[in-house]
Amino acid sequence: MLAYTYVGKGNFELRDKDKPVLQDSRDAIVKVTLSSICTSDLHIKHGSVPKAVPGITVGHEMVGIVESVGADVKTVKPGDRVTVNVETYCGECFFCKKGFVNNCTDKNGGWALGCRIDGGQAEYVRVPYADQGLNKIPENVSDIQALFVGDILATGFWAARISDITPEDTVLIIGAGPTGICTLLCAKLKAPKRIIVCESDAYRKEFIKSHYPDVLVTPPDNVFNFVMENSDHGGADVVLEVAGTKETFRMAWECARPNAVVTIVALYDEAQILPLPDMYGKNLTFKTGGVDGCDCREILSLISCGRIDTTPLVTHTFCLSDVEKAYELFESRRDNVIKVALVNS
Ligand SMILES: [Zn+2]
Ligand SMILES: [Zn+2]
Repeated sequence: MLAYTYVGKGNFELRDKDKPVLQDSRDAIVKVTLSSICTSDLHIKHGSVPKAVPGITVGHEMVGIVESVGADVKTVKPGDRVTVNVETYCGECFFCKKGFVNNCTDKNGGWALGCRIDGGQAEYVRVPYADQGLNKIPENVSDIQALFVGDILATGFWAARISDITPEDTVLIIGAGPTGICTLLCAKLKAPKRIIVCESDAYRKEFIKSHYPDVLVTPPDNVFNFVMENSDHGGADVVLEVAGTKETFRMAWECARPNAVVTIVALYDEAQILPLPDMYGKNLTFKTGGVDGCDCREILSLISCGRIDTTPLVTHTFCLSDVEKAYELFESRRDNVIKVALVNS
């Protein structure tokens, strides 16, 4: 089968590999129908994910059809259409029982698929702990509607959940990339008084304005004044930082009102500084990533009843055999790309 493979720093290759087989009674094999490319894949390509194992198949955003299951898999069966969770978790350890599945103590716990074990930019993928890693897609939800459930949408949902957003709040979301937009969609479910999105890219600003006309949009150079003018208590009540630069990290706490929640969803390339003397007395609560991806069933039901729709994010579609072209486009951000879908024919 075709499998897009991490060969070494700077180098991915479409290779012919054996179809995966069940290795454990809790595994499932899924025939991938659609997958996508995530910025984290690019981080692997650039060698900035030390845990990534050369030789593995990349890709951790996909949907498919269950091909076979191990004897102990209870929740899915061959033929089921499923989402695949980016995170592998046992469901039984201390962290899993508390819902902190990103810190599952299993050796493959956390982000393993497409990083430490073979992922889904391929024709088939083996999913460990299938009862936790797979969710059945409701009949009225298409593959394309479900494509982001296991990764960026799970991240947006988790970020909105831990940020304790209330109907009185002004919420500031920094960054309108794919994860920023998913965070926006999930923040909207909490029906806050206002949502402000900070974004520099002209197309992405326009995308937000046209799809979500009730959301306020500001460029980064004026964000502080804009937030002060459009909030009730001297800053945002909740800030979600989804951009991941030194400037946006600073922006996140500067634009927060005293006693605000600042949730850091972004992944940074380098350490950030918390200037505690400057922040003294502001009494902020910081919450940090990555995603505890255990809400996929709830997310699927929200898609099913029309409350979340990520299909406008899919701006381009390629066949898996053209994965190189898809990466080139996604990486260069050409042609106003937001997300690409890779189709297995
Ligand atoms: Zn991802
Ligand atoms: Zn666990």
